[in-house]
Amino acid sequence: MNTEQTVVVKCPYCAQEFEVLVDCSIEHQEYAEECGTCDRPVELIIDVSPEGEAAVRTRSEDV
Ligand SMILES: [Zn+2]
Repeated sequence: MNTEQTVVVKCPYCAQEFEVLVDCSIEHQEYAEECGTCDRPVELIIDVSPEGEAAVRTRSEDV
């Protein structure tokens, strides 16, 4: 079974969309991924539903 899902997220800094690979075997995870366009760390908050659907929210690190 393939537990990896590609999800398109939008960079909170430069609004560029990019793809992240989500491991759906983990119900909840948070980590930072560098935006390929502006090189800033985008915080990803990922929740996987019982159906295996990944929902990804983004957050900027500097407020
Ligand atoms: Zn960016």
